[in-house]
Amino acid sequence: MNRKYFAAAAAILAVAFAVLWIAYGANGSAQTFSVAEAAAPHAAKTVYLTFDDGPSDRVTPKILDVLDEENVKATFFVIGQQAERRDYLIKREAESGHTVAVHSYTHDYRRIYASARSLIADIDRCNDVIERITGRRSDLYRFPGGSFGLREELIAAATEHGMRYVDWNASTRDAECSGSAEQLFRSAVTTSAGLDRVVLLSHDSTRKTNTPEATRRLIKYYKENGYTFSTL
Ligand SMILES: [Zn+2]
Repeated sequence: MNRKYFAAAAAILAVAFAVLWIAYGANGSAQTFSVAEAAAPHAAKTVYLTFDDGPSDRVTPKILDVLDEENVKATFFVIGQQAERRDYLIKREAESGHTVAVHSYTHDYRRIYASARSLIADIDRCNDVIERITGRRSDLYRFPGGSFGLREELIAAATEHGMRYVDWNASTRDAECSGSAEQLFRSAVTTSAGLDRVVLLSHDSTRKTNTPEATRRLIKYYKENGYTFSTL
């Protein structure tokens, strides 16, 4: 091969390699993005409000009032033990168009995570309660404490059981502290800064009395910043 052809072939190969590298990324997995997203990266900002560990008589109705007033739908990851004693709250959540999803029956980490079998039993028991009240089972699950650092066999057991699980990428941090509504608001704003898809963790258990007011402020904040609200 003469030198000129060799140089041309090398150039073509280099371009082809660059195109492939851009298309598939350095890690070898295909990157998927739409033209619309590429042209307008902030066109589709979505926030999913999620509330764990309810329902509670003291906090859940206030959160539902705020959501009604703002016409926003949210996702509630409920505890079966709480739900079966407060079916009127689960009914209200479902009838208002919110998503009622599985969190746990007992929320007792040691029992739930003892084995794959006990994990599935806990999920099913919670789902039995949801079905009894709403008429339908949920395929949506949030691991108590999140899936972070959980044994792979437990995560596999849940997904093989037909559950899709969702963690979070932003938080009011109302689990860790009993902060003011302003502090909870600030934590959510800080942890969701720069995210186009926000899954926000809050709690509607009985001691989270500042969470309803924080939620009201956050809904205004996300609306002002161009987010739409959706359920999981
Ligand atoms: Zn929880």
